Amino acid sequence: MSFSKEKILDYLAELPDPEIPVVNVIELGIIRGIDISGNSVTVSITPTYSGCPAMRQIERDIVSLLKNKGVEEIKIETVFSPAWTTDWITEEAKEKLKKYGIAPPEKTTADKSYLSAQGPKEVECPRCHSLDTVLISQFGSTPCKALYRCKTCLEPFDRFKCI
Ligand SMILES: [Zn+2]
Repeated sequence: MSFSKEKILDYLAELPDPEIPVVNVIELGIIRGIDISGNSVTVSITPTYSGCPAMRQIERDIVSLLKNKGVEEIKIETVFSPAWTTDWITEEAKEKLKKYGIAPPEKTTADKSYLSAQGPKEVECPRCHSLDTVLISQFGSTPCKALYRCKTCLEPFDRFKCI
């Protein structure tokens, strides 16, 4: 059984963003390419500001979805350049975001105000659940994480950033 690129795109449109379920991965603009060779499908994706854990979730979701559709071999390729920008979110998706209660991004990548507004006001310590935490560095163990310290148990911890 072989698949057309259009068919694969149709399938992927069924896949919601793990963090914003009203928007699918196509509308989010993270699908960069689909290569089909026999029974093998390679999906190229670009990470978003949604952060690393969401992207790993999306990768797993793509693989299990396409497996369920009968694709025998699925490869995920991560493309980092050019970097994803909020301009890649489709206009329909921006309307959905509005209805969902999130101000959609402006048509300029310089305006990140809506992104920072998405982050929690208080950051909870993953160890003792104290909200008395402080940002130490915008860069934690990876660039997509920020380093915080809990003032209750005094332990440092990472928080995934929305950038
Ligand atoms: Zn703590």
